[in-house]
Amino acid sequence: MNCTKCDREAVLHAEYSGAHLCEHHLRESVESRLRRRIRKDGLIGPEASPEDPETWLIGLSGGKDSVVLTSILAETFTEDPRIELVALTIHEGIEGYRDESLDAASELASELNIRHEVVSYADEFDLEMDDVAETDPENMAPCAYCGVFRRDLLSDYADRFGADKLLTGHNLDDEAQTALMNFFEGDVAQMAKHFDASLGPFDERTDSTDFVPRAKPLRDVPEKEVALYAHLAELPVHMAECPHSSEAYRKEIQELLLKMEAQHPGTRHSVMAGYEELAELAARAYRENSPDLGECERCGAATTRDLCRTCQLTEAVHAA
Ligand code: SF4
Repeated sequence: MNCTKCDREAVLHAEYSGAHLCEHHLRESVESRLRRRIRKDGLIGPEASPEDPETWLIGLSGGKDSVVLTSILAETFTEDPRIELVALTIHEGIEGYRDESLDAASELASELNIRHEVVSYADEFDLEMDDVAETDPENMAPCAYCGVFRRDLLSDYADRFGADKLLTGHNLDDEAQTALMNFFEGDVAQMAKHFDASLGPFDERTDSTDFVPRAKPLRDVPEKEVALYAHLAELPVHMAECPHSSEAYRKEIQELLLKMEAQHPGTRHSVMAGYEELAELAARAYRENSPDLGECERCGAATTRDLCRTCQLTEAVHAA
């Protein structure tokens, strides 16, 4: 089958749009969706200038999503000195997994000539995920600890580096899964947090949080297209799955969504379109009644409790 836009051979059939795309047009399409999302969300602040550029911190794990995000952003802003990019890789302490993805992240940052920083749970929290998974003092899945620690470090380092925005590589499938999980769990508060943390235009949400605002510029691109882009562009990507991956519920939702998408192309897009409207309404309602943020007694991080969640969990792990 030939490409819908030219007479080269197609490498992808996007059933949700009906398009067949060749390598050139697939790459062009992924890049233009990312750049459109940057414009739509108003990601480049009106004050950003070559003399006073914004700093964007990218969470670069070495997996396909963050590698594609970093690569396209670097290409986009090479000629645009209003934005400076810094990549941050977090080493969780997972043997046989993170060292390899760290190599991929370092290789990419060096190829793209962007600043690359590495931080570890060992240095920051005096623990490693291999030990946490074994002791599991709170009877939770490993990812529940790891997600809290990672979010905390990304926010903390965004602050330390004076970043204006914090960018992650979440794709359309990731976001549609999160949306459905929030629906199925009836978690309206989580929808509101999701909107304020990373969805919607910045002027709709930045005033409502003390944290460095987040963005997910790849969130309009399906996972399969991100993976194909990484392959076709021959980017250094670490493909292995983490041995502690434990998000069983997310995997069920993922299978359900893929099945729905196969039977009803466009399902992921329509889930996100409706979800964003609802999440915005929820965010507005919750902002009016949100509790004041205080400071964690131990680390000073913003929290509504005496101890932030990270300090609660690190304390439990060290006591185990
Ligand atoms: Fe951490 Fe879970 Fe991701 Fe592994 S799969 S790196 S434990 S969040």
